[in-house]
Amino acid sequence: MNILPQPELLLVGAGPGDPELITLKAYRALQQARVILYDHLANTVLLDWAPATCEKIYVGKLPYGAYTPQETIHALIKEKAFAAGQVIRLKGGDPFVFGRGFEEILFAKEHGIAVSYIPGITSMQASGLSDIPLTHRHVSESIWVVTGTKKDGSLSGDLRLAMRSKATVVIYMGMKKIQEISRVYREEGYGEMPAAIIQHASLPQQKMAVGVAGNLPELVELHGLTHPAIIIIGAVVGIEKAASYKPQAASQSLEIASKLQATSFKRAS
Ligand code: SAH
Repeated sequence: MNILPQPELLLVGAGPGDPELITLKAYRALQQARVILYDHLANTVLLDWAPATCEKIYVGKLPYGAYTPQETIHALIKEKAFAAGQVIRLKGGDPFVFGRGFEEILFAKEHGIAVSYIPGITSMQASGLSDIPLTHRHVSESIWVVTGTKKDGSLSGDLRLAMRSKATVVIYMGMKKIQEISRVYREEGYGEMPAAIIQHASLPQQKMAVGVAGNLPELVELHGLTHPAIIIIGAVVGIEKAASYKPQAASQSLEIASKLQATSFKRAS
């Protein structure tokens, strides 16, 4: 009996932008690729590593423009997996961090397609390239990663909870909501919390601005920042100055952050 191999979906993390920031496993998979469905945020340089015969299909979603509906992507996964035996779904950063990657996994499983997942470096991790660690001993003991824009377009309610914690707050998809994010920080009394916006993190065209949560829109305006960008708020922003300029003393960021936290704990108790 001739048993055909099961068609396969390979969900691959493309990393934050710099093509060298993908895993060796992802690199090897790309070298064998037959069909690649790739996102707007996946660096197209990665496609050059696939064989010339590989079919490369753009299925991106621009936050301010053209849009490939998720249903179309699902239909293509099914069609190409059955026709070519394997399809690679290449998604920016890590496919499971605000990437709808797991929806594609569930869809594939439902349709008898085998699935594999190759993790990617998520964009917030590229903050380290700009001297912003996401955690730092005695400064930040957790990370709160939140989406700026929910499916219905509203700001996540988790943001108010996150800012009251001592966590480093990282906001994905926050650029459309920058006014509101800043206003909420001011309303809650955290307007002075150190903040950074990094656009095109890890790429040669990377831009970064540093200020405080209460003036995010001014930073965007001043530095001409736009999508894709991550917003990082917390005492880890500016920490590198503490180390290089004032090794013994508390940094300005830390002082501001701890004062704000102290007030918030008084308010909460
Ligand atoms: N799965 C992706 C996130 C997709 S949601 C990941 O793991 O990174 C899209 C959001 O990711 C953007 O709005 C932006 O906030 C962030 N993002 C993706 N690539 C980025 C980059 N190179 N620089 C800054 N932010 C980026």
